[in-house]
Amino acid sequence: MTTPFVVGVDGPSGSGKSSVSRAIAVHLGGGYLDTGAMYRALTWWCLETGVDLGDADAVIRAATDLPLAMSADPSEPGVVVGETDVTEAIRTSEISAQVSRVATIPEVRVEMQQQQRDLITVIADDHGSVVAEGRDITTVVAPDADVRLLLTASEEARLRRRSAELHGQTDDEAIERTRDEVVRRDQDDSTVSQFLTAADGVVTLDTSDLTFEESVAAALEVVDAARG
Ligand code: C5P
Repeated sequence: MTTPFVVGVDGPSGSGKSSVSRAIAVHLGGGYLDTGAMYRALTWWCLETGVDLGDADAVIRAATDLPLAMSADPSEPGVVVGETDVTEAIRTSEISAQVSRVATIPEVRVEMQQQQRDLITVIADDHGSVVAEGRDITTVVAPDADVRLLLTASEEARLRRRSAELHGQTDDEAIERTRDEVVRRDQDDSTVSQFLTAADGVVTLDTSDLTFEESVAAALEVVDAARG
């Protein structure tokens, strides 16, 4: 039996980490874990069940009790909470606006990081490999991963991409409407995780001037070199 192969990918909003991570997972024929989706699912559940996001103890309890199921298929990543498929619901602007409040509670992070380590182990064992993406995978959740990548891009490039994704436009007004979801969120998130600069041993990939295909090709070069 060969040892499972683990890839960790971190990066700010709009760096392209989700699409690149899924492409790596497809290339490896293995599993995928979106840890941001887990924080989003917890936020969705708190709002759904009336948990006050300002009540840290209540949010910590919700994190411990969260009835979460993550699909590891990179072609169709799905998220289920209890009986509800929340794959779409966790992508709304409301969740994006609130998720950092949940993710910056230290005890919530400890709980989610443990759930993420457990899932990485299970997915890697089941699929032979796993690509896990987030903000603290390369530094805290899986610092021993076989490949650790930090995807970065200029603020302008990240705003443009997210604006096109969310609003289908990149004019000044659409960019302004996207600012909270990119710049403010990264500022808040970077108070608890290091994803704006690479930690020791983490390979930085600046995608500012790369197309999606070029970003994937650059990432696969690093991954394939590590696989030998
Ligand atoms: O990647 P995505 O934008 O979906 O992540 C949603 C939020 O989840 C981030 O803004 C951050 O607050 C939180 N997050 C985190 N640590 C991770 C992944 C995501 O704190 N590893």
